[in-house]
Amino acid sequence: MMALWTSSELAEAVGGKASEIFEANGVAFDSREVGKGDLFFALKGEQSDGHLYLDKVYAAGGAGAIVSEATDGPHILVDDTTDALNALAKASRSRTGAKIIGVTGSVGKTGTKEALFAALERSSMGKAHRSLKSYNNHVGVPLSLSRMPADTEFGIFEMGMNHAGELSRLTQLVRPDVAIITAIAPAHIGHFSSVEEIADAKAEIFEGLTAVGTAVIPFDSPHYERLKSAALKHTQNILSFGFSEQADVRAVDIVPAPRGGSLVTASLGDQSLCFTISEPGRHWVSNALAVLAAVRAAGGDLASAGLALAELEGLAGRGKRHKLSLVSGGSALLIDESYNANPVSMKATLAQLASEAGKGKKITVLGAMGELGEAARAYHEALAEDIAASGASIIILVGDEMAHTAAKLDEALDHNAEIFHAASSSDALTEVAKQIGDGDILLIKGSNYLGLASVVSALVNGE
Ligand code: ATP
Ligand code: MG
Repeated sequence: MMALWTSSELAEAVGGKASEIFEANGVAFDSREVGKGDLFFALKGEQSDGHLYLDKVYAAGGAGAIVSEATDGPHILVDDTTDALNALAKASRSRTGAKIIGVTGSVGKTGTKEALFAALERSSMGKAHRSLKSYNNHVGVPLSLSRMPADTEFGIFEMGMNHAGELSRLTQLVRPDVAIITAIAPAHIGHFSSVEEIADAKAEIFEGLTAVGTAVIPFDSPHYERLKSAALKHTQNILSFGFSEQADVRAVDIVPAPRGGSLVTASLGDQSLCFTISEPGRHWVSNALAVLAAVRAAGGDLASAGLALAELEGLAGRGKRHKLSLVSGGSALLIDESYNANPVSMKATLAQLASEAGKGKKITVLGAMGELGEAARAYHEALAEDIAASGASIIILVGDEMAHTAAKLDEALDHNAEIFHAASSSDALTEVAKQIGDGDILLIKGSNYLGLASVVSALVNGE
């Protein structure tokens, strides 16, 4: 097999000299992630310095390191290791003949990226590459680019931002042939003065589009026109997706699938495609439509994409479904949304909960939403309406800001429900254990920092 990078390719890309000849088959900057044959970037951060871990890196089988201080093991010495990582990302982008797709948006980036990867991997017999996890920032994006094998046919990169200007820089590295915006929502609004500003910051992704690149944008978004005019500055090729008749890629029919999830008929103008997705909820359909638009724009195979979508399962923390066997007998359905929460994803998943049918009751464990700045109180108050509409009869709230939600819940509810305010995720777990019964549906959702993932693992592993 061809090496991902030889030391001479690396030396040329980063502008340094290799201490000896070596070959690397992976790239990492976290010493704990270094495996045999990997290249390690010794990055210097505010709190950390990768140079301190070089012994561990070589002991773990690391093939070589990019360093700014000389070391004994195989290495390339450069002035600045962060600059070197960006340089390698650029070299990786330049050498590839792959179609490159960038995915951004306020919600749904990882879900869309993973679905698109599955679709294009099928289309290319395994020659697709993607960023891992949510590696979407100024380090994660160049790292993911550097990891792309030279013979990749489709490269899919998640691109995130907290501030204006960040995507401008990232998109110059990625230079996408296809740039997707999944949705615009008040996520990280603490750093912005309006949702329009967020839309503009997301639209920076179009600045890096290649000459005949395609912008994929959400038709039903209130910010559609704004995104479209931003895209038109860089390309004439725009594909919109959504539920409206005017969208280029649209869902014409959505019915519940026999084994759960949705059976979707999508129209792409001259072509239509039927596919199932295992997760119920309109937002997953929306992401799937973005995937189809991108597959078409990138020249992938739509039929393969449809098959891949059918096989996808929810990702841990982002919609994964678990069947819980209860000590008290019977079973319950757990929907794990413990990774992320903002006003739009809360609304989407609570609407999904409303549409779920089970023989038992509906229970929600909902954690506070982070990064909302001054608007936090208003958004937490507004959440009460969405909770009421979900039909949950046991409502467990976690985190201080949920007091604002609780204050509005009595007014919003038109059915009987019991409301608990848990001080911590372990208190929430205790309450769930008391309440859950056969046939119940339990939704757990909150910002990652609240640690609701531990409630999920305790329930799933029966701890
Ligand atoms: P992060 O910024 O943390 O990396 P992300 O943009 O990658 O987040 P995902 O992890 O894909 O987002 O999804 C997070 C949650 O957002 C999901 O669990 C789901 O609840 C919700 N979600 C996903 N797609 C959409 C969508 N199109 N509209 C509204 N909510 C969505
Ligand atoms: Mg993500």
